[in-house]
Amino acid sequence: MNRDSTTISPWQENIPGFSPDSFAKEDFIYDVIIVGGGITGLTSALLLQKAGKKCLLIEAKNIGFGTTTGTTAHLNTMMDTSYDQIISDFGEESARMVHKITNQAIQLIETHVKEYNIECDFQYKKGYLYAEDDDQAKELDKIYEGSRKVGVDIGYSNEIPLPVPFTKAISFGEQAQFQPAKYIIGIANEFEKLGGIILHNCRVLNRIDGDKVTVETQKGNYKCIDLVYATHLPPGVNLLHFENTPYRSYVITAKLKDGNYPDALVYDMQDPYHYYRTYTEGNEKFLILGGEDHKTGHEENTDKFFRNLEAYLQKYYQVESIVHRWSSQYYEPADGLPYIGHTPGLTNHVYVATGFSGNGMTWGTASSLILFDLLTKGKSEYEPLFKPSRINVKASISEVVKENIDVVGHFVGDWLSVKKIPTLLDIATNDAKVVKYEGKIAAIYKDSQSQIHAVNPACTHLKCSVLWNSSEKSWDCPCHGSRFSFDGEVLVGPARKDLEAINLGVQ
Ligand SMILES: Cc1cc2nc3c(=O)[nH]c(=O)nc-3n(C[C@H](O)[C@H](O)[C@H](O)COP(=O)(O)OP(=O)(O)OC[C@H]3O[C@@H](n4cnc5c(N)ncnc54)[C@H](O)[C@@H]3O)c2cc1C
Repeated sequence: MNRDSTTISPWQENIPGFSPDSFAKEDFIYDVIIVGGGITGLTSALLLQKAGKKCLLIEAKNIGFGTTTGTTAHLNTMMDTSYDQIISDFGEESARMVHKITNQAIQLIETHVKEYNIECDFQYKKGYLYAEDDDQAKELDKIYEGSRKVGVDIGYSNEIPLPVPFTKAISFGEQAQFQPAKYIIGIANEFEKLGGIILHNCRVLNRIDGDKVTVETQKGNYKCIDLVYATHLPPGVNLLHFENTPYRSYVITAKLKDGNYPDALVYDMQDPYHYYRTYTEGNEKFLILGGEDHKTGHEENTDKFFRNLEAYLQKYYQVESIVHRWSSQYYEPADGLPYIGHTPGLTNHVYVATGFSGNGMTWGTASSLILFDLLTKGKSEYEPLFKPSRINVKASISEVVKENIDVVGHFVGDWLSVKKIPTLLDIATNDAKVVKYEGKIAAIYKDSQSQIHAVNPACTHLKCSVLWNSSEKSWDCPCHGSRFSFDGEVLVGPARKDLEAINLGVQ
């Protein structure tokens, strides 16, 4: 299964992918068009089609092309934004609602797995969070208290399933894990069986709002009553781009000499934190370790983050071999909760689900439950809490200001700092740089055959200058996280257009 990366996750490996069995009609008015074939889009599409809506799911590449196959697929009710934080920023009742909907999301995945016999290794697991010093232990106490208040099945623990020294730990129930690619293929099959239509290799380029919503794509124009952007971040230019910060996270899998694989989901409290789980392929077990997160487009030498993870693992484990190394992208919402519902500034018929932090397996599924209610009943009890147009003064203003100052800094600073090179020999083989060469500013990649690929570095979203990502061999935008292949093709939005090719007059 293809992904928006050159690194390979175990989920996509050896999975033939999904071949849609249907074609879409331009002269038909669909009840709902869903854009994006990740867990959010596919689960929403299945629920809506099952309720009798005629749905079309449009995917730029193939289902699972986005972060859904770059994830580590922990299914959590203990989210990145802890319950004590949610209580402080949104109130206790809101925190209870988060606990309720995240539980429902995991139960929905379990129901699908059982109902459709999806072999995706779904299993409930215990979770552990541990502190390594006094400050973290104080923080852990707050997390414990907040979680207990909203009803999480939680307690202090004298042990953790890792050979890492710790000062204090909590353990909690309700968590789960699965194989995400196998799960979404199962969902896609059921959606098609119910008459739902999936279009692959069909990027949505534009939208015209009117009596009906018209969606302009690479394959033609399609009409619908309601539109759902399940694209992780909506394409085009929207207020939500200023409230979601794109991050990359790095993951490795390893075979261990002593076979001491944790039978749980485990997290430390460092910043950025490390996250662990085990997965099984055939009869073999593998340890998954993730971490080293940073803002997208802020680091060029990204290979070092894999080396850091490997060194960290070697510190505690007898590692037999490192099997996979991959990275992927997520979006941090300004006030800590996702944005689910009507897209701000657009007609009431355009919906969105974004801002999932590192919990989008659960939040994407929760979104489908909320969107289902909004689209079939016109209301959801969760609408006010997750409303995309909300402004949470307490939790988000300083974050929005800080992130957007950073965006402006990149918009101006990166262009001013471009260096002139007299000759292309200044770029090493297998390396890339944004430079001024022969009077042109160009993002130049010299491949392993010393062939030059040159593109205009101005991101086609809002014109920030892209930065090379060495491990993914992609051009990444530091402002809103659009990513492009080495020769400029859009991999990840919000950009919808490729980077313009530049002819430097060289072979
Ligand atoms: C390394 C890493 C580990 C993670 N681990 C976990 C975890 O353990 N648990 C967890 O809950 N979450 C985790 N997450 C987060 C989670 O994986 C994501 O939030 C989730 O996969 C998002 O799913 P999605 O369907 O919303 O988006 P995606 O899976 O990104 O799907 C969006 C789709 O939309 C398509 N698309 C985009 N633009 C267009 C367009 N214009 N036209 C047509 N199609 C378009 C894309 O091609 C893509 O296929 C992790 C994230 C990372 C980066």
